[in-house]
Amino acid sequence: MEKVALLKCTDYQVDLIERKIREGFELLGGDSFIRSLIPRNSKVLLKPNFLNVNSKNSPVITHHTVFEAAIRVIKDFTDQISFGDSPGHQDPLRAAEKSGFMEIAQKYHVTYADFNDAVHVELDKPLLYKYWDIARPAYEADVLITLPKLKTHALMYYTGAVKNQFGCVPGTQKAQWHLKQPDPEYFSRILLDINSLVKTKFAILDGIIAMEGNGPLNGNPKQMDTIIMGRSLTAVDSTAVRLIGYKNVLEVPFLKVAQDTLWGTVLPPDIEILGETISTMRCKDFKVCRSSGLVNRILPSMDKFVSRAMAPDPVVIPDLCIGCKQCDVVCPKQNQVISFGKKKEKLLPKWDYNACIRCYCCQELCPQGAIVIKNKPIGKLFRRH
Ligand code: SF4
Ligand code: SF4
Repeated sequence: MEKVALLKCTDYQVDLIERKIREGFELLGGDSFIRSLIPRNSKVLLKPNFLNVNSKNSPVITHHTVFEAAIRVIKDFTDQISFGDSPGHQDPLRAAEKSGFMEIAQKYHVTYADFNDAVHVELDKPLLYKYWDIARPAYEADVLITLPKLKTHALMYYTGAVKNQFGCVPGTQKAQWHLKQPDPEYFSRILLDINSLVKTKFAILDGIIAMEGNGPLNGNPKQMDTIIMGRSLTAVDSTAVRLIGYKNVLEVPFLKVAQDTLWGTVLPPDIEILGETISTMRCKDFKVCRSSGLVNRILPSMDKFVSRAMAPDPVVIPDLCIGCKQCDVVCPKQNQVISFGKKKEKLLPKWDYNACIRCYCCQELCPQGAIVIKNKPIGKLFRRH
């Protein structure tokens, strides 16, 4: 039986979060549990989710006070703490500064780790790929503790403990992985392989204010008052998706793959939830991003033309678009899918949906939140919500 700690935490006050994290560790086994997780003076890497945001309180990123509280607790066991992330097409150092992490790191003598420094490695028993370029600090850390944000995600429906390590793929290489494996099942295998490579040992998930709707970048904040902690990333994510309304956790693609391949603990009967309960913490009106259903399970087995005809399309909201062309810059099929044309004197993107692989990087990384994912009537037939 895998254990996770489910904690109620009503605001981003650092002393409160520190108390909650300590309470979570206590529930999971106390001092001996932490000592087995973090051998004395081991090299611990913290992996928050950060981006070049306008406000360090943005619901897009892990809140800096969760980062600070985690440092305070881990400092009791080791002084060798570093942190890092690689936010796609952005400068990671600038993102670390703008999201408030650098200031806290300096206060506690935590080292900034450059995720653009990659190492080429081989994965034993992969689900998909054997050879990888991965951020050296993540690969070489003794203990990687992930600090994800609970958010919706256009391609994977939900992003949390497992998906957060996609940030260990250096910079713009992420787009190439989307290009190689655009469908959710195979992209799930990539996510699980990355976690096998970097050996993520523990997750502290920030769901105090989560993100619902058009995630992972342009959704809306949702107060959930939740922290979830555990050794098993899949158990943490399985618990999180139950809280946001999934009755069947296997609707989330990477949880289904993790269950099918026995990669991790996924099913609720195999997870002991300590602290709060699902029924008291469930968010009844959470807006999932793309509700899951049969469509993605049958897409991989279908003819490409049919599957594309059914897959949801990225579309622009003209009023929000500023014509910056960033959507084309981040598209793995750069210059082949998105073109620009004027409509009422405004420069707007247009999609060639036959060429689009539906990775939704454009939706994820549009700085204005001007791209949404639109289901088609035929696709809706296969969706539940
Ligand atoms: S990235 Fe967003 S704002 Fe910029 S051109 Fe594309 S849709 Fe418009
Ligand atoms: S247009 Fe958007 S969804 Fe289509 S391939 Fe490019 S980034 Fe992916």
